[in-house]
Amino acid sequence: MKLSKILHADSKNPSQSNQDSWQSELADGISDVDELLSLLDLPSGDSHTPKKFPLRVPKAFVAKMQKGNAQDPLLLQVLPSHQETLAVAGYGTDPLDENNHNPIKGLLHKYRSRVLLTVTGACAVHCRYCFRQHFDYGANLPSQSQMSAVMDYIKQHADVNEVLLSGGDPLNLNQRKLSLWFDAIAALPNIHTIRLHTRLPVVLPNRVDDELLALFANSPKKLVMVLHINHPNEIDEILIDKCQQLKSAGVTLLNQTVLLKGINDDADTLSALSHRLFDAGILPYYLHILDKVQGAAHFDLPIEQAVTIYWQLLETLPGYLVPKLVQELPNRPFKTPIDIYRHQNR
Ligand SMILES: *Cc1c(COP(=O)(O)O)cnc(C)c1O
Ligand code: SF4
Repeated sequence: MKLSKILHADSKNPSQSNQDSWQSELADGISDVDELLSLLDLPSGDSHTPKKFPLRVPKAFVAKMQKGNAQDPLLLQVLPSHQETLAVAGYGTDPLDENNHNPIKGLLHKYRSRVLLTVTGACAVHCRYCFRQHFDYGANLPSQSQMSAVMDYIKQHADVNEVLLSGGDPLNLNQRKLSLWFDAIAALPNIHTIRLHTRLPVVLPNRVDDELLALFANSPKKLVMVLHINHPNEIDEILIDKCQQLKSAGVTLLNQTVLLKGINDDADTLSALSHRLFDAGILPYYLHILDKVQGAAHFDLPIEQAVTIYWQLLETLPGYLVPKLVQELPNRPFKTPIDIYRHQNR
């Protein structure tokens, strides 16, 4: 899309149908395990239906799964498993100790130069390994009136120059609410960059519509979008096209991946992912060691194995396609780089 078209999308009164289409797709997401399995031509079998953090996946993401493949790497990210119910020592409900870095509602300030705002608790997709699956959003969403308290906090912290919109998924917010956040942040002189951490463009690409592109193209602050993609199959031509439009609107595109057993725990997959990201104009940013969250132990792998895979990536990829291997540890002032010499197993 041409930039002029993006810039004028605001004034040309975007059609109601276009405006509503992503929201109806969101509402039309799949929440029934048997429906999901039948769409994929898989037998219903002995499915797990969790009460908290239920199945949730948009049809646009299901469309990227391989029919008849019960081990499909995209399916395994969203399908509830009985293994989630096992209590495993060392896997808790607040692995990052976030409840202790919450100076005001909806604001996490762990790292000196940037704050993270949880602007919504909702996501279009429920990733089974999610470290926020036990987070008490009800207690942490800033209401409209608390927005000014959040903004005051940021103004009073001159070291802060970047605001991360996160959640939940910030692009789950409708255009009106998202614009309110953008406008409020635009008025903060110490803020240079707005960053969105989102999976929406990947699981529901129609979220990237003309209105959103116009909001981005008109932003007075630098914009960074950190996508969350774990497997090359998540990147299709539709996503590549949306990424082009985001770049034309001035957004820098990065990606974070979580290292997941049975999904992307080999160098070939991760290397293919990096190349595929590059095809889409996205640079790999972080490769995360799984956060030790209750219910996700079956996705974890020993750190020595993670480091072995990472050595192979370093030997295979150009430097700019190698993500940083990190782990989030409580009470550290930044995401902790993994020591690949200490943990090497070769
Ligand atoms: C991950 C995270 C950030 C961003 O860290 P970067 O290293 O800049 O990507 C900021 N605040 C919190 C609370 C985070 O968890
Ligand atoms: S999109 Fe992100 S925040 Fe939402 S469930 Fe998945 S990992 Fe968690």
